[in-house]
Amino acid sequence: MRIYLDHNATTPIHPDVLSAMLPYLHQAFGNPSSIHSYGRETRQAVDESREKVAQLIGAQPSEIVFTGGGTEANNLAIKGATLAKQKKSGHIITSAIEHHAAMVPCQYLEKRGFEVSFLPVDHDGLLDPDDVRRAITDKTILISIMQANHEVGTIEPLEEIGKLALERDIPFHTDAVQSVGKVPIDVGTLGVNLLSLSAHKLYGPKGVGALYIRKGTKILPQVFGGHQELNFRAGTENVAGIVGLGKAAEIALHKMQAEGERLCRLRDKLWERIKERVGSVRLNGHPKRRIPNTLNVTFDLIEGESLVINLDLRGIAVSTGSACTSGSLEPSHVLLAMGVSPPIARGSIRFSLGIENTQEEIEETANALEEVVGRLRSTSPLNENGVVTSMRSEV
Ligand SMILES: *Cc1c(COP(=O)(O)O)cnc(C)c1O
Repeated sequence: MRIYLDHNATTPIHPDVLSAMLPYLHQAFGNPSSIHSYGRETRQAVDESREKVAQLIGAQPSEIVFTGGGTEANNLAIKGATLAKQKKSGHIITSAIEHHAAMVPCQYLEKRGFEVSFLPVDHDGLLDPDDVRRAITDKTILISIMQANHEVGTIEPLEEIGKLALERDIPFHTDAVQSVGKVPIDVGTLGVNLLSLSAHKLYGPKGVGALYIRKGTKILPQVFGGHQELNFRAGTENVAGIVGLGKAAEIALHKMQAEGERLCRLRDKLWERIKERVGSVRLNGHPKRRIPNTLNVTFDLIEGESLVINLDLRGIAVSTGSACTSGSLEPSHVLLAMGVSPPIARGSIRFSLGIENTQEEIEETANALEEVVGRLRSTSPLNENGVVTSMRSEV
């Protein structure tokens, strides 16, 4: 039996999503830009998906642009909004805990002469809207702050930031890849101009996502060619993927509340068990303002990578943080920005739950953790500050 607790890295495709997609991988193969019946059939499917995605976030269908995933949506938003100003310089405000898919586009613009403020967060991973207020200058051309953090799950105060952005007429983007489908979202309430989402984080297929572009927001396209996606993103549409995203959005809208409550209970149960059975642990992320499926824990005296590998040997899949940075020995930039010291950050594990997880799996995971952490700690060369001490006794 295997247990998958890494849903923030990716989720399995929901069976109903797969069924919805299948016809568009064979019989219904028309190009949505063709005017014949084959084309009209897929055009209609793409348009229906656009409506479903719009509904999930409180947008108009005409404000949804399909992309090749969350990373592409972030690039279109961040580079697109900045470069649309047709200026060689300007100021961007973002946070120090963004996913690489938002952080690296900002760093790229920084190299190209734009000024970027990477705002700090507190110990819980929460950004202070007053820091945003203080950071805004006459040169600020974009604010990009994620809605929920992928590693610790903290939910940022977007509404307050949205008000500041609106007052100063600054485009406001959010990377909502980890929150869409997990918490109710209304783009109007959040006050965002741009919102990125990705299908494979909500039980849809990989390689498809969307960017919400509020009517009137200026964006320079990043992929040029045909007139697809209202001229914002050229290229023949990934019809099956888009249909999958639409179905996933529809399912999320119906299941979100009950599933969120269920996951929250399972997650809190796991945390209780870890505290009872393992001990010497700390919670990373905000204790309350958190997406319901995410639990990030530091295990004292443990090297995160060894814990991941040992749990994997027992069929349990967890992560040390972002899937994109695992494999590198660098501690997580998110935990470092939260003031966690590098050795402690290396002992942190992310458990991210999803629809197929059960109470039994949580108990099984707690059993495995008790055994594996106990064993690793008994042979750990780390002291309580996470510093390696020599295992050889001096003669
Ligand atoms: C996964 C993720 C992305 C990237 O989305 P892809 O569809 O994998 O490109 C961006 N931001 C956050 C917060 C994510 O968790």
